[in-house]
Amino acid sequence: ADIFGSERKNSKGLNMNIISESEPFFAALEQFKNTQWQAGPLVNGKTLTGEHKTVVSPFDTTQTVGQVAFADDAAIEQALASAEAAFTSWARTPVETRASALQKLADLLEENREELIALCTREAGKSIQDGIDEVREAVDFCRYYAVQAKKMMAKPELLPGPTGELNELFLQGRGVFVCISPWNFPLAIFLGQVSAALAAGNTVIAKPAEQTSIIGYRAVQLAHQAGIPVEVLQFLPGTGATVGSAITADERIGGVCFTGSTGTAKLINRTLANRDGAIIPLIAETGGQNAMVVDSTSQPEQVVNDVVSSSFTSAGQRCSALRVLFLQEDIADRVIEVLQGAMDELVIGNPSSVKTDVGPVIDATAKANLDAHIDHIKQVGKLIKQMPLPAGTENGHFVSPTAVEIDSIKVLEKEHFGPILHVIRYKASELAHVIDEINSTGFGLTLGIHSRNEGHALEVADKVNVGNVYINRNQIGAVVGVQPFGGQGLSGTGPKAGGPHYLTRFVTEKTRTNNI
Ligand code: NAD
Repeated sequence: ADIFGSERKNSKGLNMNIISESEPFFAALEQFKNTQWQAGPLVNGKTLTGEHKTVVSPFDTTQTVGQVAFADDAAIEQALASAEAAFTSWARTPVETRASALQKLADLLEENREELIALCTREAGKSIQDGIDEVREAVDFCRYYAVQAKKMMAKPELLPGPTGELNELFLQGRGVFVCISPWNFPLAIFLGQVSAALAAGNTVIAKPAEQTSIIGYRAVQLAHQAGIPVEVLQFLPGTGATVGSAITADERIGGVCFTGSTGTAKLINRTLANRDGAIIPLIAETGGQNAMVVDSTSQPEQVVNDVVSSSFTSAGQRCSALRVLFLQEDIADRVIEVLQGAMDELVIGNPSSVKTDVGPVIDATAKANLDAHIDHIKQVGKLIKQMPLPAGTENGHFVSPTAVEIDSIKVLEKEHFGPILHVIRYKASELAHVIDEINSTGFGLTLGIHSRNEGHALEVADKVNVGNVYINRNQIGAVVGVQPFGGQGLSGTGPKAGGPHYLTRFVTEKTRTNNI
């Protein structure tokens, strides 16, 4: 059934418990077990070659995934010039045509689901379930923005005015939109940004995270196959310091859509401020210091179930992931005891196995930073549990799922993007202080609440400054069109991806008053 209205169908997803669905799925997945992909910049539809970098799997760095060539200065120049030249005609292409190419892209993503999921596990270290969810979310973004663009842009809005004057409001693309994405949702966020910008009538320079260039490359190939003109969507893999900074400094761009860390968003903001030319918008969706507040009316087993999925699945590498668990003291010992038992059950290992709960983190730098934080926080606080890493993880970037009790959120100076949970006890009389502590971080992405006292839950939901609140459930996995996602403060400029106002960030508005 389609819960979004007749125009948009949901991606079909996959229920791994139904053998008739899962058997052919796993058989198809198997075909990509040893594939070696070749990727590079896609400029005007041509794959450019150059110096190649070998891509290895985060779960076993002795396994190669393929080769990628990063964009050089000539590729950047050609992509920018072509995207700029293609803008007028793409902006004037009927929105129905733009939307139907995105609908076709969604279909092609589903048709190529197994390859994309294999890439998610092999290049990004994602679990199979995360890979399935990733493709589904990418499909949902394409279909959602296709429908939204038609709703918003097919006709100008007629505005009331004095008799004889015709007042109309038009929405139009802004120009060349630069889309810069992170590695943790290498398909969903990558295509979420790109599909929104394209639907709204912009041409696009897409720069994937350097760790996940191949997934981005395949996504762009499919977009071209779906009918997005090759000049309209250009693909420039490379590092942030080289390709990212060059494209954001260019005068020809009309906007930047960025998802990644707060520090990088600030850097891009400075680059945009310092460049010549027009003042252009930055859409930034950034990090979090996400909390969950659990009061003594909660059900400990349900709390722990939701804590484990919010903190440790995807190896904690979700912007929405739970970092700081506030437990009312009357219930704290019991929740901690159940949590220790649940952590014992976590299966850590190869993400290509369906049994795996916690895969690797993305690269050696991430692992070194997270391991250093675990060493540090164990000195500052009291260790609740640190799972040993099993045999077979030696060649990968694995980090032990860890829970530590600390006194105050203030000891965490930044977001720690991995499977590390911090726990703080509070007394019932200290709730106002807990809310202040959470707000004092300046981040505002997700908040979890567990309570059977509705008034209490709604009060906390109201007073904590975040973009997404989840009551009596986990705090990850926002659904496109249902739970528009995005934060405030240090967590971003406030767009809601998968929400009805997202596309307004990608357009300019023109009012025409006609007195003929
Ligand atoms: P990152 O900031 O290191 O990199 C993100 C992207 O920015 C990459 O493509 C990178 O190459 C590029 N980049 C880096 N420096 C640049 C520069 N100077 N100019 C232009 N581009 C540059 O982030 P990451 O490690 O890839 O991703 C993890 C972060 O993303 C976490 O902080 C996480 O919370 C955040 N995130 C936020 C959301 C959200 O919706 N709010 C979603 C997913 C991830």
